[in-house]
Amino acid sequence: MNEMFLLKLGEIVLKGLNRFSFENRLKSNVAHRLRPYGKFRVYIIQSTMYVEPEGEGCDLDGAWEACKNVFGVVNLCRCRPCEKTLDAVYQAVIDYLGGELSQARSFKVESKRADKAFPMTSIQISQEIGGRLAEAFPEIAVDVHHPDYTVYVEIRDRSGYVHGPAEKGAGGLPTGVAGRAAVLLSGGIDSPVAAYMMAKRGLELESIHFFSYPYTSEQAKEKVIELARLVSRYCGRMTIRVVGFTEIQEAIRDHCPEEYFTLIMRRFMMRIAERIAAADGCGCLITGESLGQVASQTMQAMAVTGAVCRMPVFRPVIGMDKEEIITIARKIHTMDTSILPYEDCCTVFTPRHPKTKPVLAEIEAVEAVLDVEALIQRAIEKTTTEHVMY
Ligand code: ATP
Ligand code: MG
Repeated sequence: MNEMFLLKLGEIVLKGLNRFSFENRLKSNVAHRLRPYGKFRVYIIQSTMYVEPEGEGCDLDGAWEACKNVFGVVNLCRCRPCEKTLDAVYQAVIDYLGGELSQARSFKVESKRADKAFPMTSIQISQEIGGRLAEAFPEIAVDVHHPDYTVYVEIRDRSGYVHGPAEKGAGGLPTGVAGRAAVLLSGGIDSPVAAYMMAKRGLELESIHFFSYPYTSEQAKEKVIELARLVSRYCGRMTIRVVGFTEIQEAIRDHCPEEYFTLIMRRFMMRIAERIAAADGCGCLITGESLGQVASQTMQAMAVTGAVCRMPVFRPVIGMDKEEIITIARKIHTMDTSILPYEDCCTVFTPRHPKTKPVLAEIEAVEAVLDVEALIQRAIEKTTTEHVMY
């Protein structure tokens, strides 16, 4: 075998007795992500995950990109396995890293000996391999403090491994170890970022989208499905529940004071989302709300919209500026889709002077003219389902 990957696990190594369930989850997440790229053997020994292609025909580049997006991995490297002898290690360095090494102005060798039965210390291994490389590449200086390139040698239980510098992994916790949550996904910039941030903390996600045809277009719905697909690159497959919201919005428009339109609408969203989430086995809701961003995102507004549900509501971007949210949206490649110009149902019937400091009792009073339960029931019945996977 010529090449494989070593993935270093992050926080999960700290999780004590839960470690095994964390590791198993990560292992199955990685195996699942690798499926489109061929057959791989995936196993964990001492907080390191080994990913080995089995047989010919594996797409290693595709697999590598996939591994970089798996939560729970702090860093990862492509490496060449070799026998645990100095000659074999040296030959592997020459064959596998010689090209990159020859481009460097200076280098050093850093070794790690996990197999304590190996007869040399890590310092001795570095000195020996470094010495041989210095002879083979006399024009490249040895610099142990600020080398241009570092050759890594690892002597582990099953084999030796050589590799160049590791790359940063996606970090976070393996998807699923924290349970399952439902994200309220609009077509905007914030909610896909919120979804990504909570997926990073180990939540498996489902999404819920409110759709007001014909006030919002079919393209607006397609855009949300595409955003879900982009987020699923990080959290794995996702289900999208698309809730028909037109009747509710029209009922609010026809029967409630304009200044309360958005808040009452959001209360409906939270109630419906909570019920769908519970039925889907989710333990919390996620929104892309950011304090003060719009009238419905003041402290008082979130108090009245949050008052209708008992599930915890996670708002990971609550303390972030738009610029900070946009930086993440670009990093996770959702930005270009988010800014496509299709209307969201939140912008239909927007009040000219929305209440920014609503009082719960007042909202409850104006809402009482609606048959809330019947409206919710009909909306839930009209829900359709889409599935996405990156
Ligand atoms: P975003 O960029 O996420 O659209 P926003 O600043 O436009 O955020 P709002 O439209 O007020 O904010 O919505 C706040 C949050 O409510 C969104 O982040 C999302 O979680 C949820 N939300 C809004 N509209 C919808 C919708 N049509 N379907 C599902 N969730 C929605
Ligand atoms: Mg929005």
